[in-house]
Amino acid sequence: MEVADFIVVGGGVYGASLAYELVIRGSSVTVLEAGRLASRASGGPGKRGVRANGRNSRELVLAREALAIWPALAAELGGDTGFERLGGLMLVGSMAEYGEIGLARAEAHQRLQSGHGIGSRLVGGSELRALEPGVGESEIAALFNPHEGIADQQLTARAYAAAAGKLGASVREATEVDRFGAQPRPWVRLGDGSELVARRAIVLATNFGTNALLERSGRPHLPLWTMAPQVLMFQAKDDYQPRHLAGHLQKILSVKPLAEGITMISGGMRGRWDDDTARGRPVESDIQESLDVAASVFPPLRDGVLVAADASSPETYTPDGLPYLDFLDEDHRVFVATGWHGHGFAIAPAVAKHVAEWLTTGRRGDLLAPFRIRRR
Ligand SMILES: Cc1cc2nc3c(=O)[nH]c(=O)nc-3n(C[C@H](O)[C@H](O)[C@H](O)COP(=O)(O)OP(=O)(O)OC[C@H]3O[C@@H](n4cnc5c(N)ncnc54)[C@H](O)[C@@H]3O)c2cc1C
Repeated sequence: MEVADFIVVGGGVYGASLAYELVIRGSSVTVLEAGRLASRASGGPGKRGVRANGRNSRELVLAREALAIWPALAAELGGDTGFERLGGLMLVGSMAEYGEIGLARAEAHQRLQSGHGIGSRLVGGSELRALEPGVGESEIAALFNPHEGIADQQLTARAYAAAAGKLGASVREATEVDRFGAQPRPWVRLGDGSELVARRAIVLATNFGTNALLERSGRPHLPLWTMAPQVLMFQAKDDYQPRHLAGHLQKILSVKPLAEGITMISGGMRGRWDDDTARGRPVESDIQESLDVAASVFPPLRDGVLVAADASSPETYTPDGLPYLDFLDEDHRVFVATGWHGHGFAIAPAVAKHVAEWLTTGRRGDLLAPFRIRRR
């Protein structure tokens, strides 16, 4: 049965934002989500960092565009995104610990970012301590970007899906795609054996489910793998919280102040992935290490209570740290958008616009060229 111009498989932030951007360009869209909307990488506890700091240079223009979209996105979609413009810090550790390389690296990042129109600046120790009073003496500087912040991944994906639905997209939860094909026209087969046909293309926004779906469809795997980032929810003594979204140039650390005095601590620790359940589990030894790193940078985080540890949300990674945004075939019938490497959320609003433009006009913009499956 022919259902729409585009069938989008996956109802995370990418499936939902692509559906919305396709619909507002006049296309008809059906979204098929195996579980609930925003229940995997775009689900789970806490919030996501919306930042340009630390990004690969090929993503910086997308990051700049996304930072401009985020503040007004909730109004555009007519649904909350939980975006808070807290400002973002990329901290630089002490000369004693890291020598002078840290500052030189931070300066290089700052120049790279300003070359791409991103308004970050290097702040020294005294300004850093005025901005972020809880930061320890070991931190000598930071790259500061006042436009960065945090947003709620579940609210955002659902707001996109609801906005797409209001404009006519069909959004179906609990609908797993068993396999797909491209001939004679793009089609998907559902678990109950029924088939749906797209007039133009199928879009796989299936994140960790991508290679399994490719395999069931008789296609080769893409070079990617799944990991589950580990996040900790920590309640510090005396309700201390950092004020900013903060990362670290030399340490594995990301902190985000959440509601009710909770600080989310993450930034690179991984849970133990279980292929059978398609979920990750927290790794006990890494929990303490993460807390120790956080307390070494923010001493007031030394005392308090670990409220929760979670590693249930799977994310896909690629060998070079860049996503795949490309058609699988020459005939442009199956498009894939995956491999976000733990930082896909922040740039989703910009990526979705560019991908939708490509899908509807047939012209790929230069910005998406680095994300070809066959890198050049
Ligand atoms: C713990 C954690 C912290 C993160 N922190 C940040 C951060 O601070 N900043 C940032 O920018 N990014 C961050 N990220 C990354 C970001 O959240 C992800 O890149 C983004 O959510 C990926 O969205 P997605 O739509 O591609 O994937 P998902 O949200 O996983 O959506 C894919 C969907 O496809 C569905 N699906 C799969 N196979 C099928 C099938 N066969 N049929 C139907 N449906 C199918 C799945 O059920 C799933 O809902 C973090 C990720 C995690 C897990």
